[in-house]
Amino acid sequence: MNKPFSPASTYDVLRQHGIDRRDFLQFCITTAAAMGLDAAMVPQVVSAMETKPRIPVIWLHGLECTCCSESFIRSSHPIAQDIVLNMISLDYDDTLQAAAGFQVEEIRQKLIKEHPGGYLLAVEGNAPTADGGVYCTVGGNTFLNVLMETAEHAKAIIAWGSCASNGCVQAARPNPTGAKPIHELISGKPIINVPGCPPIAEVMTGVLTYILTFDELPELDRIGRPKMFYGQRIHDKCYRRAFFDAGQFVEAWDDEGARKGWCLYKMGCRGPTTYNSCSNMKWNGGVSFPIGSGHGCIGCSEANFWDNGPFYQRLSSVVVPGIEATPDKIGAVLGVATAIGVGAHLTATVAHRLSRKPITDKDQPTADKTEQE
Ligand code: SF4
Ligand code: SF4
Repeated sequence: MNKPFSPASTYDVLRQHGIDRRDFLQFCITTAAAMGLDAAMVPQVVSAMETKPRIPVIWLHGLECTCCSESFIRSSHPIAQDIVLNMISLDYDDTLQAAAGFQVEEIRQKLIKEHPGGYLLAVEGNAPTADGGVYCTVGGNTFLNVLMETAEHAKAIIAWGSCASNGCVQAARPNPTGAKPIHELISGKPIINVPGCPPIAEVMTGVLTYILTFDELPELDRIGRPKMFYGQRIHDKCYRRAFFDAGQFVEAWDDEGARKGWCLYKMGCRGPTTYNSCSNMKWNGGVSFPIGSGHGCIGCSEANFWDNGPFYQRLSSVVVPGIEATPDKIGAVLGVATAIGVGAHLTATVAHRLSRKPITDKDQPTADKTEQE
């Protein structure tokens, strides 16, 4: 790797911002646990944060609403926003930086020139490609050009949020601006998709922590998402799951089932087909998530979720336990399924641990990557 932009470690900078050691260690422990690492690997995470130079990052914003940045800036987690802003050497961010105009565009050009292959490119939003990309411009240049130019010499690319990962609402039919997610525009670079509208702040910090610690992208699923955070369905950890299994569903927003907190499947919940960490990590420092507030999951971390509607209409592809089925019967079937799932997860985790390697072009997500467990 090329000479880093800043020799300071993440911990150095966190300390300067008043984060004490107890909070720092707590963050390392909870993040390691969220990443699925065993306790013996916590010292490795701590050591990386204490000793490795921060990761230099150029953070671009295309067609988007900035909700990914808002996710960690507004996080109630005491350390999440400090981690994202401080564990990376955020050398260019056209939303958060104070400077503007030609000066910052020159900074971006300088960073690319002086550190080829030595920086991460983080992208929030996607690029419109219709009519030469004129529907999103930065400093008089199309975002498409800025993206391609910055990606060329990046070490790896993080596509934050659903806009960058799968196109989100901008790319929904009829997609008048020709908006395309990052992986459809750039090839030959390792790309990690971190979808969600927005992604959970702790998932963002977890991805950055992993890259800093192991100098590689984590294991990805078939659509380029880190399996450690997108390896389970919302449905698998949902606290309303017992009602699904028992065939007890909300049928109207104000019925008795809604008041009793029954399953939202019949109200269009996409939890059974959506892979994300919302039901176990939750939002706002673990306070709650949409289903906890009485609204079904709309599947925001899945590809083309805006076109997978209409929302509020039940999924037809999911076998629903009928009230005539006994909970015992369902429980037995689910028990076998869970055992198979746990076995598959364990095998994949062990295989991954044995095959850790530095970031390479092979980390680029492809259609034939391992299927989601
Ligand atoms: S269908 Fe939705 S509300 Fe019901 S258990 Fe699954 S994730 Fe939870
Ligand atoms: S619960 Fe579903 S729609 Fe809501 S943030 Fe999580 S994945 Fe997205």
